[in-house]
Amino acid sequence: YEIVDPHPDPDEEAAESALRPTSLSEFEGQERVSDQLGLVLEAARHRGTVPDHVLLSGPPGLGKTTLAMIIAAEMSAPLRISSGPAIQHAGDLAAILSGLTEGEVFFLDEIHRMSRPAEEMLYLAMEDFRVDVVVGKGPGATAIPLEIPRFTLVGATTRAGLLPGPLRDRFGFTAQLDFYHTAALEHIVFRSARLLGAQLHAEGAAEIARRSRGTPRIANRLLRRVRDFAQVRADGFITPAVAQAALELYEVDEQGLDRLDRAVLQAMCHRFGGGPVGLSTLAISVGEERETVEEVAEPFLVREGFLMRTQRGRVATAAAWQHLGLAPPTGVQG
Ligand code: ATP
Repeated sequence: YEIVDPHPDPDEEAAESALRPTSLSEFEGQERVSDQLGLVLEAARHRGTVPDHVLLSGPPGLGKTTLAMIIAAEMSAPLRISSGPAIQHAGDLAAILSGLTEGEVFFLDEIHRMSRPAEEMLYLAMEDFRVDVVVGKGPGATAIPLEIPRFTLVGATTRAGLLPGPLRDRFGFTAQLDFYHTAALEHIVFRSARLLGAQLHAEGAAEIARRSRGTPRIANRLLRRVRDFAQVRADGFITPAVAQAALELYEVDEQGLDRLDRAVLQAMCHRFGGGPVGLSTLAISVGEERETVEEVAEPFLVREGFLMRTQRGRVATAAAWQHLGLAPPTGVQG
């Protein structure tokens, strides 16, 4: 398991939930989203109504689940959690929707992975707070409309573009979460350290924040590893030197690249002369699953300008060569 993988690790669930902010005022960064969402919630509270449905999109680990929990907490409403892949039949969805209480927040993660019939049922539920339950089969089947309580759907997806237009249009508020700035990540690391009872030097926090790939989940994970190191190999205090030594041990470098990222760059430059090279070939040459390279290493390497995707394959940029301490061949871009 890669330490810099932005996807959730089931073993970390308890550790993660202990660090979740529970109100918008505690939610760091994403100022615009936070402001806009605050207004939506406050207006609903004023009017005594249920807030509009909310769509959150963005890469994993940026706080979509956290925001859904905050919405419920801010509205003093109960929260029901499910995910697209868990809802394969429309009946699964009907059961959840009819079991909601008035004003409940329904968080539907990976909403783009729901089955088509469930998706259609959701349209009606979002718009009219009604589901049509089909009874019987074949020509004798009848749809019985069933009223459901008014609820707020909070849908999460990695890319809003993956959703069919009609579904996207039924959300009253759509927010796109972006990677966090280092300053916001520093605040997150500080807050988490306080909750963990860890002593943290300001520069130590900066060291962790810089290597967290703009992702709070990774920042919190690195903090937990650095804290272990500080307790076992130092006097417990997270100084910059302790943070650096710990992150070196876990092979996360100054720019947040880990072992796999560097292996990819090394294969690109040493074996394939900088590319272009296909993803499958690249994955085999670093001894990893294609998915891991595609979903963990590549997005970050592209975002940081080390790799380019071209029609003929992946190409290393000048920054990639330089990161490995090599002079880029003439004509290399970036
Ligand atoms: P996924 O969809 O992969 O589950 P996510 O976007 O739902 O990811 P969360 O589970 O909400 O991400 O957040 C991951 C971790 O990062 C949590 O432990 C949470 O406490 C922390 N976190 C996320 N955003 C913030 C924030 N703005 N301020 C403080 N902590 C945050």
